[in-house]
Amino acid sequence: MPEPHVPGGLPEAIRHYIGGEFTDSLSGKTFDVLDPVSNEVYVTAAAGQAEDVDRAVAATREPFTGGPWPGLPPRARARVLNRIADAVEAQDARLAELETFDTGLPITQALGQAHRAAENFRFFADLIVAQSDDTYRVPGRQLNYVHRKPVGVAGLITPWNTPFMLESWKLAPALAAGCTVVLKPAEFTPLSAGLWAGIFAEAGLPDGVFNLVHGFGEEAGDALVRHPDVPLISFTGESATGQTIFRNCAAGLKGMSMELGGKSPAIVFADADLDAALDSTVFGVFSLNGERCTAGSRILVERAVYDEFCERFAARACAIVVGDQRAPATEVGALVHPEHHAKVMRYVELGRSEGRLLAGGGRPPGLDTGNYVAPTVFADVAPDARIFQEEIFGPVVALTPFDSEDEALALANDVRYGLAAYVWTSNLERAHTFAQSVEAGMVWLNSHNVRDLRTPFGGIKASGLGQEGGYRSLDFYTHQQAIHVSLGPVRTPRFGAVRKGQS
Ligand code: NAD
Repeated sequence: MPEPHVPGGLPEAIRHYIGGEFTDSLSGKTFDVLDPVSNEVYVTAAAGQAEDVDRAVAATREPFTGGPWPGLPPRARARVLNRIADAVEAQDARLAELETFDTGLPITQALGQAHRAAENFRFFADLIVAQSDDTYRVPGRQLNYVHRKPVGVAGLITPWNTPFMLESWKLAPALAAGCTVVLKPAEFTPLSAGLWAGIFAEAGLPDGVFNLVHGFGEEAGDALVRHPDVPLISFTGESATGQTIFRNCAAGLKGMSMELGGKSPAIVFADADLDAALDSTVFGVFSLNGERCTAGSRILVERAVYDEFCERFAARACAIVVGDQRAPATEVGALVHPEHHAKVMRYVELGRSEGRLLAGGGRPPGLDTGNYVAPTVFADVAPDARIFQEEIFGPVVALTPFDSEDEALALANDVRYGLAAYVWTSNLERAHTFAQSVEAGMVWLNSHNVRDLRTPFGGIKASGLGQEGGYRSLDFYTHQQAIHVSLGPVRTPRFGAVRKGQS
């Protein structure tokens, strides 16, 4: 059993950050935060209510309407963003330590996420400096140009699976675009979000531009979504929550970006490089403890290589190092919270009647407490099985055989989600044809999830609404105002110019 370990220097309480100061909820309400190994309460966090969200929005309205941030030249904002990236990199080890402790992510993967968070800021710093906008000329008559303006106070709502990195994925473009923000992080994992306050202040972000309100989704999150002075919401989380937020945004006709759940297929054809496909599919579903939106959690394998693939996949799953997430060799750590652990375990139990268990199936040996789940592999899973259809968000995978390309495509598309897909084949034509037909926002051919930050990110069907990534993120956080300038004499129909009695 891993020894319970509490990092030194933790805050005595997790508090909101409003208008440049840490503060409790006005009501004094708090909630308990557990660590995923001992499942004991290690800290309490401020439980934000509507009045705390009101305070945060008021604190960030002034910097938006009267402060320097939205109007700074891109280069000046980029300098701040680069200093933020520097600060994140400088404290990567501390960040990874806190994130590992709070989420259960293995330390090496948490460190990778910290670096990615820094990269998000660097990337958007570069982008706003390089950005140009459209100009259209009608010779001799008109010049038309796009004037880009930040939309306003952005409401950012994030999940617990890679909290700091996913927060950076919203904070970086929102701030780059000149918005001011209120962030509502996930209640399971509020620890690392407080670090932003110090990082931003040190980097020179004016007070009030960034605000943080902790709390439950139904309270703090809901109040942010409904707030009349918050014109846009960027949300990442479950599809069901996305539907609720969509409904609640309707009254205010708000801009929305939704990154939601997934049940992504990895399709392995018999002509694929099976060694590479094995490495990538094992990593694709078990990295980040399987708590990964783009996890390849359904693996469809052509029948000619199905038995061999199942056997080799199961052997690899059995050999995965599960345990103390602080150990560099650990590949799968504890799941985030006992409630989530119980949910994943229910699917594992269900899987015993819906598939053939090849690996895992419960707690790993020797890990009797903490939220551990052994990497679990079910084979021969039918497409109508719940473990084929529903997002489990843990280290559990369903393997299913197919006989033809058409069948593979039908199986791949036969779920409500459409986030990612991974295709393994050495047939170039098939790779592209399949990729273009599969119902997924993002497709990787002969690769696991390696992202170029310039590309669109987002899902279709129940996996999301709108796409971010590169300039698309800046489009989301800005209005593109069209300005039309007349060149030369204006040609206007002369209503009322003809006097009565004159023809
Ligand atoms: P969740 O939907 O339960 O919560 C996400 C956030 O929404 C939390 O901050 C929560 O407090 C808040 N929230 C909950 N109810 C709300 C409401 N009524 N109004 C406003 N805010 C509310 O999701 P989770 O369990 O934290 O995260 C896991 C889910 O996130 C999975 O489905 C996963 O696939 C998805 N996810 C998607 C992506 C992506 O990019 N597509 C990335 C990571 C995670």
